[in-house]
Amino acid sequence: MVRRLALALLATFCLTSVASAEPLKALIVDGQNNHGVWPTTTKMMKKYLEETGLFSVDVATTAPKGTDDNFKPDFKKYAVVISNYNGDAWPAETKQAFVDYVKNGGGFVVVHAANNSFGDWKEYNEMIGLGGWGGRSEASGPYVYINADGKLVRDESKGRGGNHGSQHPFQIIVRDAKHPVTAGMPGEWMHMNDELYDLLRGPAENMTVLATAFADKSKGGTGRHEPMIFTVSYGKGRVFHTPMGHGKDSQECVGFMTTLQRGTEWAATGKVTQKIPSDFPTADKTSARKFEEK
Ligand code: ZN
Repeated sequence: MVRRLALALLATFCLTSVASAEPLKALIVDGQNNHGVWPTTTKMMKKYLEETGLFSVDVATTAPKGTDDNFKPDFKKYAVVISNYNGDAWPAETKQAFVDYVKNGGGFVVVHAANNSFGDWKEYNEMIGLGGWGGRSEASGPYVYINADGKLVRDESKGRGGNHGSQHPFQIIVRDAKHPVTAGMPGEWMHMNDELYDLLRGPAENMTVLATAFADKSKGGTGRHEPMIFTVSYGKGRVFHTPMGHGKDSQECVGFMTTLQRGTEWAATGKVTQKIPSDFPTADKTSARKFEEK
């Protein structure tokens, strides 16, 4: 009897082990950023991704200044790469390896100032769709926003790329409720205090805007609905991009962490299996989970 029970338990254990797949390997790249908070935001994003149970997360950090000739992560080992990097050029070999990785189906997640990086790296700009600062201008591609009629505008007018007004909480408006990342999210939800990036520009090819935020002129914005959650397809690779996530308080937003978790799963697999949490923000209320640094 005891033996039969032991066998039954063993069978259950084996079945469970088969059912729960190995976690997806994810890599956060960081090391240089004009946002001094980056070591903390890397820890936050690593925690958010690992607590889904879907990912195991490594971190690859460059030298603090200049092109780091020793920065050669083995991108191919990962289902998805998340960038928290805004700094000097990567070595030519690393750039090529990264382009090949995404082109061949690797996932890539761009968070906030990662879209300030590499203004003159053509393939990177094709991957991220839109970027700001870093010398970006009309030569980088159009401004992309949604107008008052809900139409996507590609504005070729001259001017710099990248701007934000004063930090404030702002509302996210879902524009595509069928995409796996945004499916099930409230149509409108309040994001915590953040910089609302506007005037981003870039090639914006093969790009799908999933959600926007209105950049109020009274806060120093454009008076347009700016892309806040979007995707780009690059070769066989899926790119997920959110300009949100400036500071610790911005990343404590349950909306931000959920967006990151879902966007990263989608970039890695093309699907989203996670539920929207019960403490997700609503149309008029922000929601945060405090991050305690250990
Ligand atoms: Zn910022």
